Amino acid sequence: MTRLPDPSVRPAGLADQFGRRARDLRVSVTDRCNLRCTYCMPAEGLPWMPKAEMLSDEEMLRIIGLFVRDGITQVRLTGGEPLLRRSLVELVAGIAALEPRPKIAMTTNGVGLERVAVGLKQAGLDRVNVSLDTIDSETFTQLTRRDRLADVEAGLKAASDAGLTPVKVNAVAMRGINDDSVADVLAWCLERGYELRFIEQMPLDAQHAWDRAQMISADEIRERLSQRWDLTPLPAADRGSAPAERFLVDGGPETVGIIASVSAPFCAACDRTRLTADGQVRNCLFSTTETDLRGPLREGATDDELLGLMRGEMWRKRRGHGIGDPDFVQPARPMSAIGG
Ligand code: SAM
Repeated sequence: MTRLPDPSVRPAGLADQFGRRARDLRVSVTDRCNLRCTYCMPAEGLPWMPKAEMLSDEEMLRIIGLFVRDGITQVRLTGGEPLLRRSLVELVAGIAALEPRPKIAMTTNGVGLERVAVGLKQAGLDRVNVSLDTIDSETFTQLTRRDRLADVEAGLKAASDAGLTPVKVNAVAMRGINDDSVADVLAWCLERGYELRFIEQMPLDAQHAWDRAQMISADEIRERLSQRWDLTPLPAADRGSAPAERFLVDGGPETVGIIASVSAPFCAACDRTRLTADGQVRNCLFSTTETDLRGPLREGATDDELLGLMRGEMWRKRRGHGIGDPDFVQPARPMSAIGG
């Protein structure tokens, strides 16, 4: 049995009561998005955060700098759609100038990436994950409520050409929508040298309409892919804190990942913490509480006071996300305002 640390003895840094430490910071740089994916946002009517509530670049960099000082080694920019933040290139350059320099990644829908991929690479972005659930243009338009598949494809190619590699593609499989074409998405990614990862759909939609019974599970995805390829699981020991279980495709070297966030949670190895665009720290995607940094920061808090708040939030991290628990409550913030 794993021995847990004595919760009355709180170690320094971004530690929690279950022996985990945050190394990976997800920063939502905006809640705005230019797609309206049906499983993430309503067609209309989700008000954007008022600008005054959003952290400026300077505020964001100060907080990220403190996180880095306290042990964060990877910063992932997300949103909303991170490319919609006008100062994104400058923000990336600011993060790249931090000491010690963290790895910098971004999760994006790829729309508009074609124009900025080189600039982002030069500013210090290391790699990207592009979300793409289907390669069928009609299904894409239905799913995202926007006809932008060609832009995403161009963005992916530009990312690869700019050296934002390995380029990863994230896909959510949904019953009756794109579940019968998961193998086509993998074939498409294999052809282009993108590393695909399927993610189970989670209860994070703005409509609160998620239904576990409807979810396409990791096992189901694996079964569907296995009808076309031999999938060999990579050793679990190689996985570390990575959420995806990876498989060699037909003996490799190409791989595909499956992230079983719901059916086989990986909370015990979670090394993540999150900062929202309006300056709240969240210790879990599914937190129903958060710690405000923006207020104290604007009222003149010292670095040590801010670090105390960040550490306190991490210390309160629960053992698991609890999606399967009878008392599970979906967070009030939708995924687009948390940062996926
Ligand atoms: N706009 C960017 C993008 O599309 O990648 C970043 C934000 S988006 C919220 C991040 C990821 O969350 C996307 O890959 C999206 O598919 C995923 N996502 C959104 N809602 C989800 C849900 N309910 N379950 C699982 N993944 C979800």
